[in-house]
Order: sequence, then C-alpha cells, then structure tokens
Amino acid sequence: MLGLMQQRPLLISTLIDYAESWHGGREIVSRDAEGAFHRTDWAGIAARSKRVANALQALGVGDGERVATLAWNGYRHLELYFGVTGCGRVLHTVNPRLFPEQIRYIIHHAENGFVFFDPIFAPLVDQLAPHLPLVRGWVALCDRSAMPAVHVDTLLCFEDLLAAASPDYEWPSLDENTACTLCYTSGTTGNPKGVLYSHRSMVLHAFGACSVDSLALSTRDSILLVVPLFHANAWGIPFAAAACGAALVLPGPKLDPESVYLLLEQEGCTKAMGIPTIWLNFLAWIENNLSRLDLSRLRLKHVGAGGTAPPRATIEKFHKLLGVFLLHAWGMTETSPIVTVCSPLAKHDGATREQLVEMQLKQGRQMYGVELKLAGPDGKDLPHDGKTVGELKVRGNWIVSGYFKGEGGQVVDKDGWFGTGDVATIDPDGYVQLTDRLKDVIKSGGEWISSIEIENLAVSHPDVFEAAVIAIEHPVWQERPLLIVQPKPGHNPDKQAILDFLSDKIAKWWMPDDVVFVESLPHTATGKLLKTELRERFHGHLAVHG
Ligand code: ADP
Repeated sequence: MLGLMQQRPLLISTLIDYAESWHGGREIVSRDAEGAFHRTDWAGIAARSKRVANALQALGVGDGERVATLAWNGYRHLELYFGVTGCGRVLHTVNPRLFPEQIRYIIHHAENGFVFFDPIFAPLVDQLAPHLPLVRGWVALCDRSAMPAVHVDTLLCFEDLLAAASPDYEWPSLDENTACTLCYTSGTTGNPKGVLYSHRSMVLHAFGACSVDSLALSTRDSILLVVPLFHANAWGIPFAAAACGAALVLPGPKLDPESVYLLLEQEGCTKAMGIPTIWLNFLAWIENNLSRLDLSRLRLKHVGAGGTAPPRATIEKFHKLLGVFLLHAWGMTETSPIVTVCSPLAKHDGATREQLVEMQLKQGRQMYGVELKLAGPDGKDLPHDGKTVGELKVRGNWIVSGYFKGEGGQVVDKDGWFGTGDVATIDPDGYVQLTDRLKDVIKSGGEWISSIEIENLAVSHPDVFEAAVIAIEHPVWQERPLLIVQPKPGHNPDKQAILDFLSDKIAKWWMPDDVVFVESLPHTATGKLLKTELRERFHGHLAVHG
C-alpha cells in the first residue's frame, strides 16, 4: 500500500524561494578584489537570480546548456548559483587556478556557450578565447564602468544584461533529476572528469549539511565561505545556507590571514569553512599579532576543514587561542562533497581535551543519506574495527553514478558502490581515518606503509612547516618511504633530528630511508600535495643516495 503524502520535486529554486520568503533580510556580504565591501541579502540575491534566468533566456542559452564561471566568492557568483540552475541550465564552476590548458580542455569538453568571469581574470580570458570556438559570449561580472580590456568580440557586461532583464520570473517545475551544477575533478592523473549534480542530489545534500551532527547550519549563523565557489559546490554551503537562511560572507580573492580576520570580526561570523592551509596561515598570523588583537570580539564557534587532513597543532590552537571547535570533514568532488563529518558522540561528554583532539584528527562519521564501507583488493568487505585498512567505498543519494559524457566508463559496481581511491580504517563507532590514497600508499615487503601518518607526525616537529612522504623504488623491499620536508622559515632542522623525533612514534620498518629538505612543496589547484611531481623529481633517489 502506498502512503498518501504529497511528492514535490526537490529543486534548487525551492531553496532560494524559501530563503527569500522567510529569511529575506539575512545578509550576504561580499568583498571584491580591491577590498571594497558590498552588502545585499537573500531577497536581493533571489531577485537578481530571476533576472539572471531572464538574461540567459535572452542570450539564447538552451535548457540543460552548461554556463561556465571563472570567478571568486562574491554576490554575483552566488546569483549565478541560483539563477542558472533554477531555470534549468547547468552551472559549470571552473577552477581558475588550474593550468590554462586544463581550463581550455574543461570549457571545451563541457561545451560552454557562455563564460561569466571576474574582471581580475581578464588576462586568462585573453589567453583562452582564441582556443574556445564554442564560446558565444564572455560576460564580465561587473558594471559598465569596470569593464576590463579584453580582446574578444563577444564581450558582454553582466550588469547591463541584468538591467535589461525583467525581474519577473517564475521558476519552472523541473524534474528533480535535472542536472544543476557541473564540477571537474582536478585530474592529477589523466584528463579532468566532469561530475554532474542533480537538483535532487544537491537539495538532499543541503539537508545533510544543515543537520546538527554534520555542519549544524542555522539561520543564526553567519558563515565565512573561504572555500571557493569553484571547488566542489563550495562544499554545498550556498545551497545549505539558503535552506536554513544563514547569512553568508564571501571574501573574494583576499584570503590572507589579516583579511580573513577582518571579516570574521567585522561580520560577527559564527562559522568559517576552508582548507587546512588557510587555517595554518591564519593561526600563525594570530600568534604573531596576539598583543594587538582583541580576540574577545570574535563570535566564531566552529571552523570546518576538509580537502586535506588538518594537522594536530591546527586543531589544538583553534581551541586554545580562540575557543573554536574544528569540524573535520571528508569528501570529494564525486560526493557533492560531504560524506563524513567529525562531530562527537554522547560518549564524548566529559572527554578530556586530548581525547577530543584524537577524535577530531579523524575524518569523521558518515551522514545519513550516504553509505560507507571498507573493501579489500578482492572487493570483499572488511571489518570496521579501527585497525583493518582497506579502500573506502561510498554510495547514496549524492554520490556520482558516472562521469559526464561517460568518461572513465563504469565507475560504480553492480551494487552502486563507488571506489573513492582513499585508503582508510573505520572504527566501531563509525569514525573514518584516512591513511592514504591508493596511488600514494607505500608497499614495502608486502605490507602497506601510510604516507599520511608519517606526514602528520613529521609536521608536529617544531621545525617542520610541511612534509610529504612518497614511495621510492627499492631493490629488496619493492618500495620504501622518502620524507620530503619544507622547514619553517628561519629553521634549519637536520636529517638525524627528524628521524630521532619519529623513532619512538612509528614502527621501525616505517622509518623513512632518507629525509630531504626543500624550499617549497608543490600543490594541486585545490591545495593538495602534488605527489606525482615529487615522485618524478625524486625518481631513483635512494638508488643513488641510499
Ligand atoms: P580533487 O579534484 O583535487 O580530487 P577533491 O576535493 O575531489 O579534489 O579531492 C578529494 C580527495 O581529497 C579525497 O579523495 C581525499 O583523498 C582528499 N581529502 C578530502 N578530505 C580530506 C580530509 N579531511 N583528510 C584527508 N584527505 C582528504
């Protein structure tokens, strides 16, 4: 027997409608590349999103057509988040930090007819335009007076388009499975692949992000969104914030610690979301400026961090200096992205600070709406005992079922499980702890050595700024770990001191065969260590030196 309840499509337009109707006055604050502030609210974003929909119609953008952005976090980009998706087009947020050749590939592959860009990216547009014959218009996200000097015939002005567009628009009642946003993985191996989200998946993800054991978003929150709108739907926060009417603070390209602090203080932010590197620099700046800062003016309670693992010192300093709880989360572009969040259980009531930090170092527990498990190389399920290491597999309402245009072929097994390529343990309470990427794991004498675990320990050495561990070929052991260290500025650690530091913390056979020091470590466009480059650079290292 079927239930007798209504079924309404889960659409992004319902999120912006809700925010407009019931939280219309909650503020959306943006800062531009020059540092100027702009203030609007959910009602303002909603009204201009409708103009965006009419403008796309006028430009002849077809249903389902992909519209690209090359833009930082600001109100115009947010209007595109709702305007483009709400009317049945697909918002393709392109990461401007990728190599120009990758950007060209992605825009061409997505067959974008229009690219909306911040004026700051004018040089990039000049570089790209001659190689993108399918682009019919380049729209500068500014008013007429700020139009950049771009050498393309098809340059348009966003504010002119909006001024000419009617504010009257009724969102269409789309099928909830209609595509809404498109993000490409950064493609450290092979070409980037597109992940195409649906209205349904994004709305369900928004419910999940708001839930209390997840990011606990509320209309009482003011959220500093450091994570870029071009990175995995900005962790879905724009949609989740509309679902609960939270205020948003959009920092533009100014992500230096002083700017971040200014926004947190001035806008009374209660939550902030960003990758650990941002917080590492932020906390170092706070420590250096303690005497002149009045930290009691901050209202910050939670910082969300993911994308890479936050070091122990970051978690500890947030608590010690600011009384802030770091919410560690894990996910990937293919998972919308949030799958696990590291929030405490009832059993943690009364836990010591040390016990809490141990918990926060883990990647967290899965949210309702997705499923997680561990699998061995033979595909068989492994126990969740906190010790057994295997590949993390996920399935659920906001997990990819295949890449855009079928790239990469079949990516889920017959039961819908997607192999994440992440290697982890899951403890009996459900906390996931990542130990490696499948492609980075070090296979030594038939056993696995966790590169992440050695890196995490190495960065807790007082002279170490950042560390990477990679596998180096070995004639007897197959592979052995090499530790590559970037010292803190002005510090000069030596190899033996680092090895001594590690010696009582890891098994003897995990000890790196060598330690090398570098001025800086290479990163991907999303802030992850670029180990492919390190493996090339140190290829054969131990054979020569070891
Ligand atoms: P990219 O496009 O660079 O792959 P993603 O955001 O999709 O960007 O990257 C997902 C990967 O990032 C995960 O598979 C995992 O390896 C890593 N990652 C994400 N969150 C964490 C975390 N909290 N700790 C460690 N690694 C993480």
